[in-house]
Amino acid sequence: MPEIHHTDLLVVGAGPAGYTAAIYAARASLKPILVTGLQPGGQLTITTDVENYPGFAAPIQGPWLMEQMREQAEHVGTRLIYDLITEADLKNGPAADGYFHLKGDSGDEFLARTVVIATGAQAKWLGLESEKRLQAGGVSACATCDGFFYRGKTVAVVGGGNTAVEEALYLTHHADKVHVIHRRDGFRAERILQERLFANPKIEVHWNRAVEEVLGAGTPEVVCGVRLKNTQTGESETLPVDGVFVAIGHSPNTGPFRHEVACDEDGYIITEAGGTRTSVEGVFAAGDIQDRIYRQAVTAAGTGCMAALEAERYISGIPAMTKT
Ligand code: NDP
Repeated sequence: MPEIHHTDLLVVGAGPAGYTAAIYAARASLKPILVTGLQPGGQLTITTDVENYPGFAAPIQGPWLMEQMREQAEHVGTRLIYDLITEADLKNGPAADGYFHLKGDSGDEFLARTVVIATGAQAKWLGLESEKRLQAGGVSACATCDGFFYRGKTVAVVGGGNTAVEEALYLTHHADKVHVIHRRDGFRAERILQERLFANPKIEVHWNRAVEEVLGAGTPEVVCGVRLKNTQTGESETLPVDGVFVAIGHSPNTGPFRHEVACDEDGYIITEAGGTRTSVEGVFAAGDIQDRIYRQAVTAAGTGCMAALEAERYISGIPAMTKT
């Protein structure tokens, strides 16, 4: 039987942003409900060692960190519901009953006085079986997270946008050699970034190349190379590398919110500068769904905290912390 849930604050999404919003909201006695979505824990559940989340002197595991956040959120009074929000009626503001109305895949209805959207984003992948198989063995979509593990080694970055060029430059701080593999003969990254890349002696660009396969060896299997195809001649070649960073863009999980709050052309939710308010009063967005630049667990957690504080002020009728 579908149920109707009422709450002062509904968090949508169970990544660092969502859990942090829930922790702050619960401690402010807002009795939050957090709807987890399909991948509770978010992107950190597909990473292994995490060394850049403050507070842990030794490396921790991404899935473990998310488990801790979930337990903490529940411990302080969050109600977790394993469902996927499929419909949201936000754009006209709260209904006559004072609540925003949302619906889950289960048929349950969620009536919330405020909503924090924290549905995250996902890295785009090449779609190769070998890329998926080696995600725990040297294939990554985040140089800031995993670059450190390649000190003195050789890595490949795939892509030609700002992310790929920035990641390649970042990786030169760790790796001895960075191969950039791009399917065309020109980058779309900003000119200044390109100039920095071309000036860096550790970086070699392979134009007109597509990755056909990520090669692995050993037990447990780790990356040992990539097989490339020349997009002009069709010839294949093998490049020995220790790690592969796929940087071909991200997709925000905007789902049912796309036409309910203002989004940019790629579907990222637009929030006010320095805050988490969206185009709809009472609806806030936190984490990667509104951040295409930093994309870190700690920045997502930070904006989750901000969203909860702003929601609390909104409910209490206190003026917003920031102005649009
Ligand atoms: P982009 O969409 O800009 O670039 C993606 C790149 O990956 C393109 O070069 C594209 O090739 C390539 N690509 C896409 N799909 C495939 C595929 N299947 N196989 C091989 N290559 C592929 O994504 P970014 O993440 O780089 O940037 C997203 C947005 O975020 C941009 O607006 C960017 O400017 C912004 N950004 C800004 C930053 C900053 O200001 N510091 C930092 C990072 C991002 P092709 O060129 O042939 O289409």
